[in-house]
Amino acid sequence: MQKQDICCIKCGKFLLTEQKDDQNRIRCVAGSYENGFYDEFQDEFFCLECAKKEGYEV
Ligand SMILES: [Zn+2]
Repeated sequence: MQKQDICCIKCGKFLLTEQKDDQNRIRCVAGSYENGFYDEFQDEFFCLECAKKEGYEV
């Protein structure tokens, strides 16, 4: 089973861990999506502080 830690691309702060289940669905097994901000166009995760600094509305 594939596990992936998601960290802020700016400061490296840990946000959450994603894991694929048997049906290949991605679910969050640690942390929370609410810890960070996801830019779906760039496919990048930021922590909330860095997202604000980058000018995103969080
Ligand atoms: Zn950050």
